[in-house]
Amino acid sequence: MSRYTGPACRLCRREGTKLFLKGERCLTDKCPVTRRGTAPGQHGAAQSRKQKEYFMQLREKQKAKRYYGVQENQFRTYFDIADNKEGQTGENLLCLLERRFDNVVYRMGLAESRKEARQLVLHAHFTINGKKANIPSIIVKKGDVIALTEKSKASEKFKSLLELMEAKTFPQWLDVDKANATATVSALPVREDVDFPFQEHLIVELYSK
Ligand code: SF4
Repeated sequence: MSRYTGPACRLCRREGTKLFLKGERCLTDKCPVTRRGTAPGQHGAAQSRKQKEYFMQLREKQKAKRYYGVQENQFRTYFDIADNKEGQTGENLLCLLERRFDNVVYRMGLAESRKEARQLVLHAHFTINGKKANIPSIIVKKGDVIALTEKSKASEKFKSLLELMEAKTFPQWLDVDKANATATVSALPVREDVDFPFQEHLIVELYSK
């Protein structure tokens, strides 16, 4: 399945919630969800009233996929991994998604959105434990050190991103060194570290049918 390349805001309107896909704009009143709050298309309002069980489960899964920018096959793979781990599958799933390399770059405050973080990773601006890494789907482990490369740090492009980083707060599981643009995974994320109100049990129900 190919990656969605249409307007990001349409995805939020479809889910009827802000997925924060466009950085700062998402926090302004230019956000279409803030302005309208219905699903796109002429049947949007009617659709949002039909909250049948399957629809809600499907929408929750789509929401999580879109929030983290993950495609269906990969999402399903994460689910299977989560299901095989000890603990609650839904929580395991979200914690795995949090540990994606592109999400870590976003959480470090070095990208305005996960989509931008993905692009920066693909363009090899970062290292993991001193080695160049350009695969957004890498799952980081406790103790891993993610760093902006020295060359990238010196580039004009990153000057503004490093300024952006200054104003950010970071999740507890990441020990961020702003001065050196590095982050150490000091602990694995837990459910409370996922700052979006997912109803992950709906995703589990969907895949358990
Ligand atoms: Fe667009 Fe961001 Fe609002 Fe989503 S949250 S609709 S991406 S402005």
